Amino acid sequence: MSIRDYSIKELIQAQACTGCSLCSDVCPAASAGRDGRLSGVYRLDELQRINRSRAGLLRRIFRHRAPGLEELKTFSDTVYRCTLCGRCQEVCPAGISLKDIWVSLRQDLVHSEAYPKKVDRIRENLQESYNVFAEDNEERADWVEDMPDAPEHGYIKDRAEIVYFTGCVSAYFPMAQNIPIALAEILESAGVDFTLLGGEEWCCGFPLLGAGLRDRAREYIDHNLEAVRRKGASRVVFACPSCYQMWREHYPRDFSICHVTEFLKELLAEGRLPLGEVAMTVTYHDPCDLGRAARVFEPPREIIRSIPGVKLVELSANRENCSCCGGGGNLEMLDADLAGEIAGRKVDEVLKTGAETVVTACQQCVRTMNTYVRRNKIPLKVLDIVQLVRMAGKGRGHSG
Ligand code: SF4
Ligand code: SF4
Repeated sequence: MSIRDYSIKELIQAQACTGCSLCSDVCPAASAGRDGRLSGVYRLDELQRINRSRAGLLRRIFRHRAPGLEELKTFSDTVYRCTLCGRCQEVCPAGISLKDIWVSLRQDLVHSEAYPKKVDRIRENLQESYNVFAEDNEERADWVEDMPDAPEHGYIKDRAEIVYFTGCVSAYFPMAQNIPIALAEILESAGVDFTLLGGEEWCCGFPLLGAGLRDRAREYIDHNLEAVRRKGASRVVFACPSCYQMWREHYPRDFSICHVTEFLKELLAEGRLPLGEVAMTVTYHDPCDLGRAARVFEPPREIIRSIPGVKLVELSANRENCSCCGGGGNLEMLDADLAGEIAGRKVDEVLKTGAETVVTACQQCVRTMNTYVRRNKIPLKVLDIVQLVRMAGKGRGHSG
């Protein structure tokens, strides 16, 4: 392991931990896995111990031996069983940027060859096909073929004002493909000049961070920036909070970027999004990468409240305290049982609100919750906010 994988800020902040365990109390992985070794406080303590043993001077002072590969692998099994939900960071009274440290730690473990081998699949899939599912990247916009009234250009134009960056989950996962379809219909109805990138869209690079392969993201960043540039677009819209987060934090700010909830709010304010009645009681699940990470809490709620007939009831833990659905941090690939257990706890919280539908603003959250609900035959609808808006638009008889 090498301390070079951490920023100076991360190394200094890690020293500020008081051991209060508040991060452990809110950690969905530690509680669903019933394992304190999955908590932030354990992970940080272990990292500090390892760092003391690896740095020359500190090693002499503390007389620690460097950890062996097997010891690192045991530690790695706990490090990767984390959804990167950021709840620990939200409550940490010492203000430690825990999420950044967790990402650096994963990279450290990859450089130390002490990472779960399933991580190689993410790297290989991206290397070979530029998407996480190892599908043909030229088929990225094939979902358009399922639209009854798609224009001849299939929403892939030479130039447009706005690029809708779909992300891998929406593009390829059948359970999520209704989301880009609904969004394309909404944008068309509202007269928005938009284009998809089609096969020219590569994975945004976000899964590489969770895999511990942050240093491989540059190629994807450069490619996507150039693809957007070629369209002459001034703005990029994301329905996937993780793509949005990746662009916000790791791409140069060459374009204006926003999440679709912010964009739809603008369309609403301009009167370009008339909404008809939908009689439904819903609750709203804040996706971790949109809520806690991007602080986009109100636009989705404003959109939901503006739909006639929709009653919004809040989850007991909402906004920055919203609990994770289990879908982040590549956890599903690394420990599907733990991801399912976290999803189950989330669905239980949702059911307690009495809502018939849980609305979110992330295709991965939709996928995770829907998988659990279907598998366990729970009578709960799971919708992306884009699908809800489309339903309300259809209530107005839009052509879209
Ligand atoms: S990011 Fe979430 S899952 Fe990971 S340690 Fe923090 S609270 Fe637990
Ligand atoms: S909440 Fe912060 S200070 Fe408290 S144990 Fe966790 S990392 Fe340390």
